[in-house]
Amino acid sequence: MHFDGKEKKEARAFMKNFDFRVVGAGLAGSEAALVLSREGARVQLWEQKPKKFSAAHQLAGAAELVCSNSFKSEEVENAHGLMKAELRLLGSPLLQLAKLSRVPGGKALSVDREAFSQKVSEALEAQANIEWIREEASELPQDDVPTLIATGPLGSESLMKSLETALGSESLYFYDATAPVVELESLDLAHFFWGSRYTEDSTDYLNLPLDKEQYLEFRHDILGAEKVPAQGVDEKLQFFEGCLPIEVLAERGEEVLRYSCMKPTGFTLEDASRPYALIQFRREKAAGDLLSMVGFQTRMKWPEQARVLRKLPGMANADFARMGAMHRNQFINSPQHLNNRLQSKSFPQLFFAGQITGSEGYTEALATGHFAALQMLQKLSFPKETAIGSLVHYLVHSDARYFQPMNFNFGLLSSLLRQTDSEWMKALRRRSKRERSKMLSDYSLGRLQSWIDSEMTESRVVLGV
Ligand SMILES: Cc1cc2nc3c(=O)[nH]c(=O)nc-3n(C[C@H](O)[C@H](O)[C@H](O)COP(=O)(O)OP(=O)(O)OC[C@H]3O[C@@H](n4cnc5c(N)ncnc54)[C@H](O)[C@@H]3O)c2cc1C
Repeated sequence: MHFDGKEKKEARAFMKNFDFRVVGAGLAGSEAALVLSREGARVQLWEQKPKKFSAAHQLAGAAELVCSNSFKSEEVENAHGLMKAELRLLGSPLLQLAKLSRVPGGKALSVDREAFSQKVSEALEAQANIEWIREEASELPQDDVPTLIATGPLGSESLMKSLETALGSESLYFYDATAPVVELESLDLAHFFWGSRYTEDSTDYLNLPLDKEQYLEFRHDILGAEKVPAQGVDEKLQFFEGCLPIEVLAERGEEVLRYSCMKPTGFTLEDASRPYALIQFRREKAAGDLLSMVGFQTRMKWPEQARVLRKLPGMANADFARMGAMHRNQFINSPQHLNNRLQSKSFPQLFFAGQITGSEGYTEALATGHFAALQMLQKLSFPKETAIGSLVHYLVHSDARYFQPMNFNFGLLSSLLRQTDSEWMKALRRRSKRERSKMLSDYSLGRLQSWIDSEMTESRVVLGV
């Protein structure tokens, strides 16, 4: 690694006395550093901010949520909810801090992103055995200290070059995009109503219903708008299927938007009619003065976004706190390079976590960060028949030729269980989808609890919650 100036002396002094190194104080790296530290290990944590920012990061602190402010559902019948339930059993430090930064979000765990980042930064700073070095790690370490690479999908260029040199040039790329954030005060609320899709009397979401004519005109405007081109002539536009920009959805057909991010399901208007399509806005901050447009990731150029969105009813004077943006995301070919401990096959001192492994999503970043920390601590027999275990299984056992990033979903768990416990899987037949999800959740949580009871010590403590 390269050290500069004052940091150089301090870092070298501490280097003699630490057990693990973590590169990147994002979601995965912060989670891992806190887990390692509470087990008594001495950790050196490298974070390039605030000296250097990626195209998507803006806050100086740790664990920044770069787009949506939501960790998604908390219900265990939901895949995101199950993963959070597992993290709760494991005593995930960041999940606890997310709950302390919570803002209204229906059944989802939504947070005030600044408060969350601040709480994580304070938790890292409060640990005597974490040395936080605010510098870019510009190349892979040359020593044999176990090191977790958790630099996310937008890792610094020089470190990524060093990684590419070490692993070979087969790193993959794809693109995704952030959604616009609008100021509540600038909207004409006569066109909107408050309400959550399935919860009565909720004011968690602001909704903009559209009739057929308005919907078709909006789709037409999106299709005609100027878009940001891909970076690099050789890179194809490869979007993650779970986070498609609205223009990609619009291109796929006339009805696709209203069956995805503009679906009107669950709402009836005052005159008892149903909207043809609907746009949801979610509170960004507890005060609710900033709203993000749910599922509205976009790669339209900024002036075009403003033009197209201001044509929507009630949005003629909309002020945008942040426009949608498009970024390159980077991940390694995990099935080719990592073993089932998220450890490099060629460089065993290197571990990987977060989106750089091809796990997609905030909760997945916490999960893989937590998992990698346990592996570095030699807690080896983590059960794969769990949400976290099956995600890791997907990452390292997929077909390397077609490997793509993935959120956790029940399909990963059930396809694994079909191999390891086919008898039990028969019990799922003829059950409703909700019942199947509940049974899979119970199975998975039971497995994890048994493992925790046999493997973990009292160190799995809470951070003052
Ligand atoms: C534009 C964009 C929007 C996204 N939107 C969502 C969303 O809405 N919901 C969702 O669930 N997921 C989203 N994701 C996917 C993913 O969940 C997030 O990227 C998530 O933050 C990944 O966590 P991470 O810990 O892997 O990386 P990050 O949280 O990005 O953390 C990486 C950290 O490493 C630091 N770093 C990078 N290089 C170096 C270096 N060389 N030395 C030191 N520090 C370094 C960075 O500054 C950063 O703090 C989005 C991704 C992108 C790129």
